[in-house]
Amino acid sequence: MNRRQFLKFGLFAAIGTFTLGIYKKVSAETKNSTEKELSNTTADTIACTYCQQCEGCPLGIDIPKNFNIYNQYKADNKKENFISAYESINADNRADKCVSCGICKSKCPQKLDIPTLLQEVTALYKKVK
Ligand code: SF4
Ligand code: SF4
Repeated sequence: MNRRQFLKFGLFAAIGTFTLGIYKKVSAETKNSTEKELSNTTADTIACTYCQQCEGCPLGIDIPKNFNIYNQYKADNKKENFISAYESINADNRADKCVSCGICKSKCPQKLDIPTLLQEVTALYKKVK
């Protein structure tokens, strides 16, 4: 390898190292951003699978619907959407009508503490309204 070839090789090597450095930095930032988004979308959500096995509330509370809109809010943080979705549920079927009788709890395969979680849905509505 003559001097000219040597310098050319050195230049390519330097460009390669620089490019790799940028790639690693961008990859790390993308990974952190994706992890952050993921943690935002899963934070505080209710582990309801919307299986509807809790149907039959004597007061007619629509449990999966209430949990669904709560989870949607936790995913997108859109207050107006949550408020309008909550208010679109028939007033008699909203979370705030739950009297915590506990009948639904034994039916849930996810072992969710449904009455307590419904209180959280109600509290969220009062907070963002
Ligand atoms: S705890 Fe609430 S949601 Fe469950 S059956 Fe009783 S009133 Fe209905
Ligand atoms: S039974 Fe449990 S998991 Fe299924 S819809 Fe009701 S609350 Fe959600």
